[in-house]
Amino acid sequence: MTQRFLMAASILLLATCGSSGSRRENVGEIGVFGPVCGSSTILGVAEQPVTSSASRLCGIDKPVRVAEVSGVSLAQQPLLNCTAARALDKWVSRTAKPSVSDINEKLVELRVVAGYACRPRNSQRGARISEHGKGNAIDIAGFRLASGREISVLRDWNRGKEGRALSRMRRGACGPFGVVLGPGSNRFHRDHFHVDVSNLKRPYCR
Ligand SMILES: [Zn+2]
Repeated sequence: MTQRFLMAASILLLATCGSSGSRRENVGEIGVFGPVCGSSTILGVAEQPVTSSASRLCGIDKPVRVAEVSGVSLAQQPLLNCTAARALDKWVSRTAKPSVSDINEKLVELRVVAGYACRPRNSQRGARISEHGKGNAIDIAGFRLASGREISVLRDWNRGKEGRALSRMRRGACGPFGVVLGPGSNRFHRDHFHVDVSNLKRPYCR
C-alpha cells in the first residue's frame, strides 16, 4: 500500500517537473538559497530572467547568483548562467584548490571583480557585446587564503611560488573555460583573469 502510494507520488512529482517544459528544476528554486544548477557543490540563488534595455544581446534566461563553489566562497557573488557556474566549480575543484594546496596554503575565497555586466568587450565603445553581457564570463583578481594572505594577479604574476600557483591555475582554466585571458594577453587584463564559456570547442587561451 505504502509502496504503491510512493510510486503514485513520484509519478505525480515527475509529471509536475516535466510539465514545466524546461530545465528550471535543475537551476534551483527562484529566491531560495541552496544548491543550484543541479550541483550539490554550487551554492547560490536562482533569480528571475535578466534582460537589458541597453542591448537586446545582453541578458540571462536562467541566472543564478553564485555564493560558493566547491567550498570556496565568491567575494562578490556574481550573476552567471549555469554553464559558467559549472565551469567555475570544475576549475576551482580540479585546479585552483590543488594549485594553492601545492604551496601549502588553503584557498577560501575568490576575489571576483565582475560577473554579469551588459557592456562592450574591454569596455571599449563600438566593440562587440562582452561575454559578461550573457552571463558567460567571470573576472577574478585575487585568491584569498586561510592564512589571511591573498594571491593577487597584479602583484604576484610571474613572482615566486604564488606566481607559479597563478600560472598553473591559468593553464588549468583552459578546458573548463573556452576563453582565458590574463596578464600579457593585452593591456586590459594585467590585473585579473578573465574566463568565459564561449569558444569551448576551439579554446582561445593566451
Ligand atoms: Zn572579463
